[in-house]
Amino acid sequence: MKNIKDYNLEELKEELVSMGEKPFRAEQIFKWLYQEKVKSFDEMTNISLELREKLKENYTMCNFNILKKQVSRDGTIKYLFDVLDGNAIETVLMSYHHGYSICVSSQIGCKMGCKFCASTGINFIRNLTSGEIVEQILAVEQDEKLRISNVVFMGIGEPLDNYDNVINAIHILNNQKGLSIGARHISISTSGLVPKIYKLAEENIPCTLSISLHATTNEKRSSMMPVNDAYPIEELIKACKDYIAKTNRRISFEYALAKDNNDNLEDAKGLVKLLKGMLCHVNLIPINKIENGSYTKSSNEHIMKFRDYLNDHGIVATIRRELGSDIDAACGQLRRKNLEQ
Ligand code: SAH
Repeated sequence: MKNIKDYNLEELKEELVSMGEKPFRAEQIFKWLYQEKVKSFDEMTNISLELREKLKENYTMCNFNILKKQVSRDGTIKYLFDVLDGNAIETVLMSYHHGYSICVSSQIGCKMGCKFCASTGINFIRNLTSGEIVEQILAVEQDEKLRISNVVFMGIGEPLDNYDNVINAIHILNNQKGLSIGARHISISTSGLVPKIYKLAEENIPCTLSISLHATTNEKRSSMMPVNDAYPIEELIKACKDYIAKTNRRISFEYALAKDNNDNLEDAKGLVKLLKGMLCHVNLIPINKIENGSYTKSSNEHIMKFRDYLNDHGIVATIRRELGSDIDAACGQLRRKNLEQ
């Protein structure tokens, strides 16, 4: 059966029209799904019984079950959701002074193989649909009775490897008749799929683009991120410059510092050389050690020195606050869990 949450408003209108209904019905349904956040068609009381029955026959609502919920000492919550086909995904809710942020997964598993990431080493199973991406937000809002203001595509998966569904999910999130989360409050993080960065620049969606850079030489970046063999640093930076020129939007570069690997002065100098003059911001992340991983965190002192060097040389850099590390919910710690786990 089709998932009703996979459709953006325009598509839902077409669906309704093809069922012989008036397009405004789609707006009513959208409101029930994303504003009232109902969990069944029966609750859509301004829709005729007959149409409700037809909807039930043709569509699911894809309400995720919570398999596990862990609360961190800092208030961060990690959910393990049953995506209703025997698979499970993780989603993280974080609380900041400016509101609630959610870190969503875009795929079940990941193909990228980054050496420092916990999502590596588990099989890639499939892309999430638009509705399954949107449902992560709905399920958390319903469970915690709150409104999420920011969405980051930094959970499991490579969002630009599931391009169409991610873009459609953003259209659903953006819609003012729905969840009404502005694109400026949405970040897409990518390991660097160059052709998709060019494509995203043409979308006219003012979301934030984050690039997982992590190294400034091809040798080092390839040793950490196999995707660099396909799209080396020069090509990645060229695509980023094109993105900035077309969108006039600041890019955020993610740089996870690993002790004695990419955290010395030479690396900081390399970063200044690479990014000088670009409309960008560097997010420094203390790398999180994963099971059997060979990378360990740089010391706080070292990270601050690295940041200061960048700031002193014209590159705006901040250190990302770590949230949820005690429940394996910090950057790069999410894994696809089996249902029986
Ligand atoms: N595939 C996308 C999004 C998922 S990863 C991407 O690569 O950007 C989200 C962010 O967490 C990325 O910047 C990623 O490089 C970073 N990350 C992954 N593993 C990490 C770890 N062990 N410690 C710190 N950051 C990590």
